[in-house]
Amino acid sequence: MPEGKKKSKIVPKKYPMPEQDPKERIKNFDEVPTGQDAETIIKEARRCLQCKESPKRKLCKDGCPVEIDIPAFIKKVQEGDFAEAMRIVREKQNLPAVCGRVCPYENQCEGNCIVGKKNEPVGIGRIERFLADWERNEQKHGKIVKPSSTGKSVAVVGAGPAGLTVAGDLTRLGHKVTVFEALQYSGGVLVYGIPEFRLPKAIVQAEVDFIRRSGVEIKNDHVIGKLMTVDDLLAEHDAVFVGTGAGLPNWTNLEGENLNGILSANEFLTRVNLMKAFNFPDYDTPIRVGKRVVTLGGGNVAMDCARTALRLGAEESVILYRRSEAELPARREEVHHAMEEGVRFELLAAPVRYIGDENGDVKQIEAVRMKLGEPDESGRRRPIKIEGSNFILDCQTVLIAIGQSPNPLVPMTTPDLKTTKWGTIAVDAEGRTSKKGVFAGGDISTGAATVILAMGDGKRAAKAMHKYLTEDPSWPDAEAFEKAAC
Ligand code: FAD
Ligand code: SF4
Ligand code: SF4
Repeated sequence: MPEGKKKSKIVPKKYPMPEQDPKERIKNFDEVPTGQDAETIIKEARRCLQCKESPKRKLCKDGCPVEIDIPAFIKKVQEGDFAEAMRIVREKQNLPAVCGRVCPYENQCEGNCIVGKKNEPVGIGRIERFLADWERNEQKHGKIVKPSSTGKSVAVVGAGPAGLTVAGDLTRLGHKVTVFEALQYSGGVLVYGIPEFRLPKAIVQAEVDFIRRSGVEIKNDHVIGKLMTVDDLLAEHDAVFVGTGAGLPNWTNLEGENLNGILSANEFLTRVNLMKAFNFPDYDTPIRVGKRVVTLGGGNVAMDCARTALRLGAEESVILYRRSEAELPARREEVHHAMEEGVRFELLAAPVRYIGDENGDVKQIEAVRMKLGEPDESGRRRPIKIEGSNFILDCQTVLIAIGQSPNPLVPMTTPDLKTTKWGTIAVDAEGRTSKKGVFAGGDISTGAATVILAMGDGKRAAKAMHKYLTEDPSWPDAEAFEKAAC
């Protein structure tokens, strides 16, 4: 449909995504949105106006960190040609089934959609999800074309979204890539962090298998910094990419934090997702969840913890967050789902200390009410304590989801790798580090961010690594690096 014509006929809302009923879904770990059929997805695609590019305005495409040609793939969906649509998506996207589910598209591609100016934007994320699922279910994976070898070899540290993107892209360009991953499974946060009911692990596995089939070798159970160092890898490979993520939990450092029943979000979610604690005793990782679980934080990680706690049998799951609902950093959809499932939001409140019983188990949190002041450096209004407003909340489990820091092992064991004051690896715009031949990207260089930003970083680094390996092996000297590193 050409832009500008039949605008009055635009269906104002996205076609609804079927979902499990909230009362039922809190009893299982199955995916919440159950997916749309081909007919509905074609109708959703027909909401797109096929806008023409113009320097005067931003379009969907400009909001996608991996630069997928969105209008082109949607056009193919409008015509019912899913195979060609998927071929266009795969030109830029290594994990389509993942991004179609967890990408914060409301702030990215869909945030720029012209239809979204007056109506709901085109459901780009759900169209991408449909295509990836269609490809997997119909086994319509395009033929993998093996390029001729460049004779160069690359080591990638970490099989998260950043590392897998670099590995996939460099393999397609003819380099031999080996990924070294600390865990027994590949996927990074996609397997150990984001719960099954948001991102089924079989789907992550299928995406990883696709990348493997394209020629990437993944060596699991390889902790770089223990088993071997980045210097060892550099001795055997022509370049190294570090994508080790931000998996180190932040703590509140409040009195009583070492009481039993207080866990980091990271440990809680890893036990549930990776070690399948929800399936005890079939899997032998027990996890204890009290009647009332309090999760500290307001991001996606906090929503995942609070919703997981309900599914593990908590009678009440409470989010304690120091700002108001408008400032919650989690995706809107996750907040909405948490509310539908009965998670209680104790907003404008911050913890003061944890109180234990005679056995050393946590039994209460003391918290204080907050009000919002002027915006801080993050642009969000600063929370300010209301003196004398302290209150007590009974609880048997506390989950701390107040952010993660970069994994320190690789920087600690690679002395000439510069880090920033936040512990991230310093990189220039091309992902080059202070050490010749070593690139980095994703959460380890940006700090905890999103899947698609980690993948965007991976894409940029892969391009720069290809240039380094094939045409220009120059490297910035210390002074130039200092100026260029962000
Ligand atoms: P990671 O995914 O952390 O992968 C790093 C990999 O490196 C891991 O597999 C790790 O085991 C491995 N590794 C670490 N150290 C070593 C070592 N020394 N040797 C070898 N391997 C090593 N983002 C979204 O876009 N949408 C969401 O809905 C969303 N929800 C989230 C929910 C949770 C619970 C969490 C924790 C994060 C969420 N995120 C979400 C953020 C997103 O998952 C991350 O930004 C993204 O995974 C970062 O990718 P990465 O490749 O940089 O790092
Ligand atoms: Fe949108 Fe994310 Fe897909 Fe890009 S990868 S088109 S930002 S959903
Ligand atoms: Fe279609 Fe929206 Fe992109 Fe325009 S901005 S091409 S309507 S998806």
